[in-house]
Amino acid sequence: MKVLFVASECAPFVKTGGLADVVGAVPRALGALGEDVRILMPLYPALAERVSRARTVLRFDDLLGGPARLRAVTSDGLRLYLLDAPHLYDRPGNIYLDEDGKDWSDNHLRFGALNIAAARIAAEGANRWRPEVVHAHDWQAGLAPLLIQLKGMHAPPATVTTIHNIAFQGLFPWETRYLFDVPDHLFTPDTTEYWGKFSFLKAGLVFADRITTVSPTYARELLTHAFGMGMEGVLAARGADFSGIVNGIDTEQWNPATDTALAANYTSRSLDRRRTNRAAIRARFTLADMPDAPLFCVISRLTGQKGMDLLLEAIDDLVARGGQLAVLGSGERSLEQGFLAASQRHPGSVGAEIGYDEPLSHLMQGGSDAILVPSRFEPCGLTQLYGLRYGTLPVVARTGGLADTVTDADADAIRQRRANGVTFAPDDGDALRRAIHRCIDLFEDRPTWRGLMRNAMRTPVSWDRSAPLYRALYQSITGNKA
Ligand code: ADP
Repeated sequence: MKVLFVASECAPFVKTGGLADVVGAVPRALGALGEDVRILMPLYPALAERVSRARTVLRFDDLLGGPARLRAVTSDGLRLYLLDAPHLYDRPGNIYLDEDGKDWSDNHLRFGALNIAAARIAAEGANRWRPEVVHAHDWQAGLAPLLIQLKGMHAPPATVTTIHNIAFQGLFPWETRYLFDVPDHLFTPDTTEYWGKFSFLKAGLVFADRITTVSPTYARELLTHAFGMGMEGVLAARGADFSGIVNGIDTEQWNPATDTALAANYTSRSLDRRRTNRAAIRARFTLADMPDAPLFCVISRLTGQKGMDLLLEAIDDLVARGGQLAVLGSGERSLEQGFLAASQRHPGSVGAEIGYDEPLSHLMQGGSDAILVPSRFEPCGLTQLYGLRYGTLPVVARTGGLADTVTDADADAIRQRRANGVTFAPDDGDALRRAIHRCIDLFEDRPTWRGLMRNAMRTPVSWDRSAPLYRALYQSITGNKA
């Protein structure tokens, strides 16, 4: 089956979060099942060196303010269609934010153009390749299902919208719709209007044939006022067209036996070798050499969504119980400063690195004892899956994909060898503190802890579980059983 992914980021080329991991991994997993999945994304400067051999397959004389072309290239085993529009993408820095940390003022043009390109590929094909399914990811691709419908094709491709995080909805002034020739009757509260604004995401939720999100629990949560962020009604109206498919991870890229970012490789049979990685983390974060102290880590955007303020409240307690903490992340200034202050308050016990560092994130998974993910909401979450794969026990809030992938180490689950982490609710500082205490108690019971590590490493986390679910979804909307 021919499927076109439309997305604003894709690992390993350009990544700001879990979206990129998923967009990079699912096409490979479906490719292994014999499907032909290609990815349409912007040609950002970070991709420039990859495209020297790219062929031009479509041209646009004027794409929202300048000439553009679509270039096809295969890189890292992924087939990419890169939208080369220098007036929109050729600029340094973050792909969403300007140097002041604000959304680029022309993001409606930058990602709107991506959707125009998607609709054109759907209608005309690119170099004689025409998708049977267009799969739009998050608000940046939300207009694609609508623009495809507006083309009035005889046999349009089927469309899917996937919500990776409902907090980002692509809301723009109402007149933005004229740029995309969206007629007035499709700017209503039932269609693309969200309280007077034009919403890219809502267009994707209303006009796609199917909607998915990245875990079954998040799919249920999104139907509630507390989690739906205003979209709960739209989603409820779609009924059975909306479902959750849990994310997997790329188990080649994330493999403790071969990971080149680790100081020492290991398997579940050589867990002692993790000590070398733990020593490397302690050195990197200037933590004291306390071999018996449980080493917690955080690899995260530092935001309220991720519950990082709750963790700041719990740090003194974690240290008082004899734990150590290494934090890698960036985000809200006050939280960044909070973690730096905590590392000064607790020298040798808390270390923080503000920034984004992919190899360091692998090392941290390869040597920490536990990873903390105290999110207020978490569509799926990937760092707990990497933790499971690497034997770093996840301590997580019981929400979204965290609830679907981590089994709490209660007495029953330990006995049945199902336990692979610690979960807690509600999402407040006290519950987090109690979870950390429970985790340290388990850590001090070495045989139990070893068992938990083995359970974690045995937990199925690859795309083998979920890639067939995407394939079945595509088949159900195309009638294509090939
Ligand atoms: P979200 O997409 O909401 O940020 P996820 O858990 O789904 O959260 O995905 C986050 C991804 O980004 C993971 O692959 C994680 O390892 C990575 N990541 C987050 N922060 C950093 C960082 N500071 N350095 C390196 N990798 C990071």
